[in-house]
Parts: sequence; C-alpha cells; structure tokens
Amino acid sequence: MSVHSLRGFRDLLPQDAARFAAIEAAAREVFALYGYQELRVPTIELKELFVKSTGETTDIVEKEMYAFTDGGGREVAVRPEGTPGVVRAYIEQNLSQSGHNAKFYYIGNMFRAERPQAGRFREFEQIGAEYIGNASPFADAESITMLVRLLEKAGLPGCSVELNSLGCAECRRNYRQTLLDFLRGKTDRLCEPCRGRIERNPLRALDCKLDGPWLAGEAPKLTLCPDCAAHFTRTQELLKIAGVPHNVNPGLVRGLDYYTRTVFEVRSSALGSQDAVCGGGRYDDLVKSMGGPAAPAIGWAMGVDRLAMLLKDKPAPNLAPAVFVVAATEAAQDQSFRLLAALRAAGIAADSSNFTLSLKSQMRSADKSGAAFALLIGEDELKAGTVAIKPLKEKGEQTAVPFAEAPARLKSFLKPAI
Ligand SMILES: [Zn+2]
Ligand SMILES: [Zn+2]
Repeated sequence: MSVHSLRGFRDLLPQDAARFAAIEAAAREVFALYGYQELRVPTIELKELFVKSTGETTDIVEKEMYAFTDGGGREVAVRPEGTPGVVRAYIEQNLSQSGHNAKFYYIGNMFRAERPQAGRFREFEQIGAEYIGNASPFADAESITMLVRLLEKAGLPGCSVELNSLGCAECRRNYRQTLLDFLRGKTDRLCEPCRGRIERNPLRALDCKLDGPWLAGEAPKLTLCPDCAAHFTRTQELLKIAGVPHNVNPGLVRGLDYYTRTVFEVRSSALGSQDAVCGGGRYDDLVKSMGGPAAPAIGWAMGVDRLAMLLKDKPAPNLAPAVFVVAATEAAQDQSFRLLAALRAAGIAADSSNFTLSLKSQMRSADKSGAAFALLIGEDELKAGTVAIKPLKEKGEQTAVPFAEAPARLKSFLKPAI
C-alpha cells in the first residue's frame, strides 16, 4: 500500500502552519479590539442547513458540497462555509437573548469539492465574522473597517474596499422580474448552467464567471428603494469617517443567496490583479428565514490559504529554538536532560537531539537547528558543576557558567531574541 493524501487536500508543514498561526493571532487580536467573541460550531451539520441558507442554486450547494448519508440515514454535509452554522447556533442557543452584542468570529476549516487548481484546496481555512441583530449602517461600516484593519495587521498592504448594495427583498422583487425578462431574451448568449437556473434565480447569472462580465455592461440595473439608498449612502459616509478607502462597484454581486443591501470585497495593491482577497455582506433576512427572530446581520469570511499565499514574501516565522543542549559524554546525559528542563521552566525555548549520539553528530544538529547557542556538558563541566555556552551564529568565545545560573545568563545573552 502507498499512503498519499487525497487530491485537493494539502498538508501544512511547520513553516506554512506558522504563517497560518500568525494570521490567526493577528485576527484574534483585532477581533478583541472590536468586541467580537469566538464561536466554535460543528464541522458537520444537516445538509438541509446549507441548502436552505447558502442557497440551493449556488455553486457551493449545487456542485461543491461534500454531502453524504451517515450511518443513521441522515443527510449530512461537511460545512462549505461558516455563516449557516453560526446562524443555526444563534437560533438554537437563543443567543439573541444573551443580553450581549451578538458579534461572533470563527476560525476553522471548510470543505468544497472544487476542481483542484493552484492555491485552491478542497479543505481550506476560513476566518469569518458575523454581527447579528444590528440593522444600522454603523454595523456595516464597523464590520468592513474591522476586516481592513485585520488584513493590515496580518501584513497585507494597500487594502481598498469595493462596495455595492443589492437592495432589500422589496427592491429585489421588481428587479428580479425585469432582469428575468431581459435574460429570457438572451438565453442564446448565456452559458449552460445559467440557462438552467435563471427561472429559479435570475440574479445568479450576474455572478457567473462567464456571463457576469457582459451582463455587467448590458443587463438592467437595480434601483434601490429610498430606505436602501439611504442605508448605502450612510455606510459610505461612515467608511469615510473610519478612513477606509472604498469604491462603489455596481458590478459587484456576491455568489450567495442570502445577501441583502451592502456587499463588499477587499482588494490589495499587492495583488497586481483585480482579484478580491475576501468579502462579505449583509444578510438581513437569513436568520428569520431559518426559523429565528427577525435579526438583520452582516458578516464576512476570508480564506487563510489565499492570504498566506499573498504574504509569502514576508519573512518566514522563526521556528528555531533559542538554545540547543548537547551531552558531550554518556555520563553527562542526565545533567543535560536536567538542563533542558531548567531552561524550559525559565521560558527559554530549548531543544536537543539524541543524547546517545556522538558529540559530532549532536553538534551538527545544533548547527542545523538555527539556535543561537549550544550548551555543552562534558566531563569537565560535570566535575565543575558548570555548563559551556558556545555561540553558534556569531564568532565568540565559549564561556563556562555555573549550572544554576545558566538560564539567567542565557536570558541576558538572548535579550532581544526572546
Ligand atoms: Zn430596498
Ligand atoms: Zn453563466
């Protein structure tokens, strides 16, 4: 048997995992500043949850969902996105009654059976945020501002926001018919999947990779009702106050059924292309349509894999230990092991290889480890109750310090490094 990973699934080796962890740490820091709390929801839910919330005519549900029948005969799916689970938990756990702001974030893996391509995986990590229960444009502006600050904190330069409003159910009702009439006259130009779904969801065609571009120029435009227009104007004013550069883009349609009013994407000057880094939008009707209270909401999600790829030119996180302990003789093994424990207890990242290997071999490992110092204990050190400190990266004399003082001495040597 040969063991190999499934196509489209990736291993994150330590260096990559450290990049992901750095992004997650930046995110948690920013979430705390904005009053968002973490919500961890299951990876597997009833399939129906995603069909009803994400939308049965979306690509995610139609083509990409990992759904199966479990041992108990239930139709389940591994989550393709984070919002449905958060909304389900909000309803099921009565989070509207908690008395707190319902501002949640999640960090977790999602699954979509996409055609594998560069930088796209079938299991991928998303960081997302949902603000439930606040209908005002202040929530829109806060959510978008937080996303931009988070991307900046993670190290992505030159972020700007593309913004559009898809209107409310009311403004969409009229538009839906106008658009459908238009599309019915153009079916010969539409791609096969669009032809099959315009009667069920004509808006989906605007988001189609093939038809979206020409429809953006030719299709009738949505006219916002006065309330939606005022909400959109106010959101832009507030983003200006927050100092977030933005640009109204009437062609921006996000590919999920539940979006209402504000939708947005963030682009970065680092990209060199017009691809969005991430995005989100308002979903004022979703919670109610899933059986919950009337709770307007706004949220976004970003792919960590993609962001990590964009940040790959940044210096790699340092995974090296600060010091490397070497047992120069067999008799020194126990004392070396004791030293490791003392260093770690003092908060110094210390590593070793196999103490039973030769001195030469252990020193080779010490050099490879990237540690700043090797700490050696041999016959002389054992007798004298000392540790030899040998600089590995810079030229310098080997010095001997009393065993008990080694952690404190190293801390002073390592000062800016740890
Ligand atoms: Zn409206
Ligand atoms: Zn199409």
